Amino acid sequence: MEQNVMDISVVIPIYNEAENLETLHRRLTESVSALTADYELIFVNDGSRDDSLPRLRMLAAADPHVFYVNFSRNFGHQIAVTAGLDYARGQAVVIIDGDLQDPPELIPELYRKYREGYEVVYAQREKRKGESWFKKATAKWFYRILRRITNIQIPVDTGDFRLIDRKVVDCLKRMPEKNKFLRGQIAWIGFRQAAVMFERQERLHGKTGYPFAKMLKFALDGITGFSDKPLAWVTKAGFCISALSFVIILYALCSHFIFKQTVSGWTSIIVSSMFLGGIQLFSLGIIGEYVNRINKNVLNRPLYIVESTNAETDGF
Ligand code: UDP
Ligand code: MG
Repeated sequence: MEQNVMDISVVIPIYNEAENLETLHRRLTESVSALTADYELIFVNDGSRDDSLPRLRMLAAADPHVFYVNFSRNFGHQIAVTAGLDYARGQAVVIIDGDLQDPPELIPELYRKYREGYEVVYAQREKRKGESWFKKATAKWFYRILRRITNIQIPVDTGDFRLIDRKVVDCLKRMPEKNKFLRGQIAWIGFRQAAVMFERQERLHGKTGYPFAKMLKFALDGITGFSDKPLAWVTKAGFCISALSFVIILYALCSHFIFKQTVSGWTSIIVSSMFLGGIQLFSLGIIGEYVNRINKNVLNRPLYIVESTNAETDGF
């Protein structure tokens, strides 16, 4: 591993944020340069289809603090952040969104807490502005359910906007899982953790890169990565349904052989077979999620492919 030469690295995943880049760069520079002159801004271009890459190249040409890592295609937000962490050389590393929903002006406050001796300082949302009620409601419930079914304390209402110490970055690099759920992994790693409250802003320009399908995949990665409870539910449900089936079989046999009643029970057959079919498919789906996870890890493909970069380290 190369020596870590920076005080602060800022990691910013970028997916179609061309219009935000200039403001983002200016506000980040204002906040971070007030803390130290020894910093770097690492933009990870996650296969943007707009002008993000040429604009990043322009920023990098004009400002020696700017580095970019350009992926060969869209690999997803969590992987973009992971790549940024691989390249970061800072003693303290800030992870922040590129759409200015996370205000860069909070970084000095995160840094102050870090200097008090916390290895993880996460920004917790007091309010969320400009997001649909659906997103707010699903996010709220997701964090609360996750908290219930996992054994680790993942803070609620907290995204990836946070400052982490070099120690934590190095621990993250030692976690080889392919399905990344960084906020869970960081909670799992431990160390001293503190929260700073903030108000999440509206996205400056553009639209969300997290449509429902991506949100669902992300939620499943969080659950399957940090909880075995769904598997236990499947086992319990299977057990209860087997017990119930046993009673029904007894009843069927008695009515046939003892009471000599042959029931013309179309409705009961339809209802029970639909019910059982549903439960079985759902259970298979849950098991499939875990099998898929195993499969990804067995395939052991690289997490991302870098097409070009001006970063000085090779990332690994
Ligand atoms: N992002 C990314 N790859 C993706 C989707 C999003 O790198 O496939 C970046 C995006 O540019 C932003 C951050 O991840 O910096 C958060 O994404 P977004 O704002 O779209 O999500 P939301 O805030 O709506 O949950
Ligand atoms: Mg956003």
